[in-house]
Amino acid sequence: MFDMSALELSYAVKAKKLSVVELVTAYVAEIEREDGKINAFISVSEDTALKRAEEIQKKIDSGDPLSPLAGVPIAVKDNINVAGMNTTCASEKLKGYISSSNATVIDKLEENGLILLGKLNMDEFAMGLSCDTGIFGPTLNPWDITRSPGGSSGGSAAAVAAGEAPLSLGSDTGGSIRRPCAFCGVTGIKPTYGSVSRYGLIPCAPSLDQIGPLGRDINDCAALLSVISGPDPADGTCVIEKPFIFDCTPVERLYGFTIGLPRNRSTAVIDPDVGFSVSSAVKKLETAGAVFEDFDMPLSDRMMHAYYIIACAEASVELSLYDDPEFLCEISRPGNPVLSKNREFGPEVKKRIMFGSHVLSPAYKEIYHKNALLVRELVKDAYNRLFERFDMILSPVTPTSANKIGESVIASQNMFAGDIFTVSANLAGLPAVSLPCGFDRYGIPVGLQLTGDAFSENKLIKAARVWQVITDYHTKRPPKR
Ligand code: GLN
Repeated sequence: MFDMSALELSYAVKAKKLSVVELVTAYVAEIEREDGKINAFISVSEDTALKRAEEIQKKIDSGDPLSPLAGVPIAVKDNINVAGMNTTCASEKLKGYISSSNATVIDKLEENGLILLGKLNMDEFAMGLSCDTGIFGPTLNPWDITRSPGGSSGGSAAAVAAGEAPLSLGSDTGGSIRRPCAFCGVTGIKPTYGSVSRYGLIPCAPSLDQIGPLGRDINDCAALLSVISGPDPADGTCVIEKPFIFDCTPVERLYGFTIGLPRNRSTAVIDPDVGFSVSSAVKKLETAGAVFEDFDMPLSDRMMHAYYIIACAEASVELSLYDDPEFLCEISRPGNPVLSKNREFGPEVKKRIMFGSHVLSPAYKEIYHKNALLVRELVKDAYNRLFERFDMILSPVTPTSANKIGESVIASQNMFAGDIFTVSANLAGLPAVSLPCGFDRYGIPVGLQLTGDAFSENKLIKAARVWQVITDYHTKRPPKR
């Protein structure tokens, strides 16, 4: 059961090879057995999951039409509201805060018969790239527990890699789905901005945030993206007109696909093992029919600065709410401990509030924030021109494979280098997939990124499916710890 994909699991329960209760019970037991070693979960909702499993089983038994992922257990990052559960964002500020309503994506999971196993560890308020800035301690990488699973959705990737959940949801503001996928050898999609509702997602930086799926392979992720995408009256920025529908007919070739390869990607120091895996991927995709062309990525030396200025500016505005007595009264409902001003944010969040307030201050906003917004517009224009030539762009997800826990990437210059390949998709609102593409010399996964034009998820998923037909990296599992 732990080797089956989410789509296979749903098929198995519908074919009565397995009951939904058996499936959920097995996953809960696996979490109990494994999670002490990797710390991917913040909370496990065993009782409600089992109750839901019984309900879904009844629907199967009565022959109700069910969605392709019905009966499948899933876990979600702890910045997504689930009614009646604590949403912590891995922060002291929100510990004990019980959400009064579901995020739209949670409603969609429920409508489609998926079963929530629990909430997953993350960097505090999704700020970070190692899953170690939250109050619940770091999540560890299932491939090597001395290494980071990547952040901020580290719990979402580690849980799937360790076999504690067949699927998960994460959020991506500057790479937080794609980086953990690359570090943990799982597949993930950062969807086009405006294709998945953000209602009920606690923001990191609202103009960059997007919820997306993580899973064992691209077919599972595509199926989950079909479930969570679509318009939502509660989120005016969710401009998509209808949910994505993906073509599942077998594909093995990529004829007619022109893929751009940024020549100047070495602005970041790419580890030789990562470089080797990505270059080998290019050759394999060429054999499958894709045509590659080099280009120079404009503005690649400005993107990180623009990203951090915009992300911190927005974070400082969002988080100022938590010092507003009226807002605190509103969310401190009966049953919730009073969220007081005296509860502190952690150091990474404080640093961003200070930096964000600085770049928005009257004396500096013209030079920092305004210029960052200008760079953002130029990045969008540059991509528009690139997508007249290319169907998609290929790059590594990260310049290195998973760093050692405690190697404080967050405090150093490396923090800026680590997200160099991922932030531009968020600045321009574009979709991107993260796919396992090999291993470094220590046996740690390496990830490949394909970035496409807005709402070109179908094309990206087709290319990703071909990649996973011609390779088997996504089938590899970490050794049992
Ligand atoms: N590492 C980036 C940051 O810390 C991205 C975070 C994210 O995508 N949530 O801002």
